[in-house]
Amino acid sequence: MYDVTVIGGGIVGLATARELLRQHPRMRVAVLDKEDTLGKHQTGHNSGVIHSGIYYAPGSLKARLCIEGRHELRSYCRSKDIEVRPVGKLIVALTGDELPRLNVLWDRGVANAVEGLEMIDGAGIRKREPHCAGIQAIFSPATAIVDYGSVASALAEDIRAMQGEILPNHAVTAILQTGGRLEIKTGNGAVTSRTLIGCAGLCADRLAHMTGGSRDPKIVPFRGDYLVLTPESRHLVKGNIYPVPDPAFPFLGAHFTPRMNGEVWLGPNAVLAFAREGYTFGTVNGAEMLETLAYPGFIRLALKYPGVAAGELYRDLSRSAYVDWLRRYIPKLRKENVRAGPSGVRAQAMNSDGTLVDDFVFEGSGAVMHVRNAPSPAATASLAIGRYVARRASEQFGL
Ligand SMILES: Cc1cc2nc3c(=O)[nH]c(=O)nc-3n(C[C@H](O)[C@H](O)[C@H](O)COP(=O)(O)OP(=O)(O)OC[C@H]3O[C@@H](n4cnc5c(N)ncnc54)[C@H](O)[C@@H]3O)c2cc1C
Repeated sequence: MYDVTVIGGGIVGLATARELLRQHPRMRVAVLDKEDTLGKHQTGHNSGVIHSGIYYAPGSLKARLCIEGRHELRSYCRSKDIEVRPVGKLIVALTGDELPRLNVLWDRGVANAVEGLEMIDGAGIRKREPHCAGIQAIFSPATAIVDYGSVASALAEDIRAMQGEILPNHAVTAILQTGGRLEIKTGNGAVTSRTLIGCAGLCADRLAHMTGGSRDPKIVPFRGDYLVLTPESRHLVKGNIYPVPDPAFPFLGAHFTPRMNGEVWLGPNAVLAFAREGYTFGTVNGAEMLETLAYPGFIRLALKYPGVAAGELYRDLSRSAYVDWLRRYIPKLRKENVRAGPSGVRAQAMNSDGTLVDDFVFEGSGAVMHVRNAPSPAATASLAIGRYVARRASEQFGL
């Protein structure tokens, strides 16, 4: 029997298990994942950006854990010889209309004590990014890039080195609570444990429901497709170039991001995925799609922002429209400069009133705790989230 079983071998589950073992070296800890390899979902399908912490409401968990986590992540990567590239980032306003929102971000960045921020004008933008349009931008030198897959592998090695067990191919299907212990049924046999922490990303609400938790907030999967610059076009972008985000949505907007392997990715957009793990337009799971479409929160959101949703869908279906949208930032960009890239699916929690849950959400009672909302910047914040959850779990479980 394990003392703690963590369900989900993404970066959040792995960081949590590692931290538990650091705090309680003799504890028996297992990490279960339904896939044959770790980090197969959000952890392995993201932009690879180490966020600085500009965007998040001062005082929120996102702001605090992003900034703490960024510092921890960078020193962890140093200790493990994982390369971090400090490429910086511009958040670019194209028109005067966007300046009030850019100023709000500036104020947030200052309130969150993000290091080295500069407000620069159009000439300043061109000095840093010669091919980028824009009239004003926030430059954030603390933003960097990393390969989160490598970070997840290093965390898994640490867990094994501390005698933790990692069990892939263990899809959790039911959880029974009897006589002070939990019986966790999986597609590969049952696992018994004194306590449990759910870190199941796109399935977080389902896991919570299995242990008697509320179905709300519900995870709504938002797919994002990337385009990739052709090798000859990579010179168009040096560092991260982001739009000023729409405050109605928790997503940061399609951006230009250099990758550790030298590629440059453009995106991701944000459209409803037709399956929780629907990485292509054609991946449809009828039951999951109906579940989302019938959810009152989703209907309310769709009715509130029909134009935004239609625009995202149009750009998803038309490469030309997607490139036209991106060209507003890099005027030299043409359809021939890009090819189709990978996709990711974001696990975004939504309330039944249609509001998207902005902050990280952790919930627990008795022998069970769940990470219910850990969207971006949870990869940046993963080590801090792991520490936060491990501390809360230690108190709640009396470890
Ligand atoms: C397109 C995209 C771009 C992003 N860009 C960034 C970025 O640049 N920077 C950043 O900081 N963040 C970014 N994020 C967010 C970040 O990737 C996620 O917040 C983070 O990876 C969440 O990690 P996780 O461990 O909670 O989830 P996941 O990595 O999704 O892991 C959850 C795990 O749970 C497992 N699981 C689910 N159900 C079960 C079950 N029943 N039984 C067993 N196992 C189960 C899954 O197989 C999975 O491995 C991005 C996300 C996306 C999708």
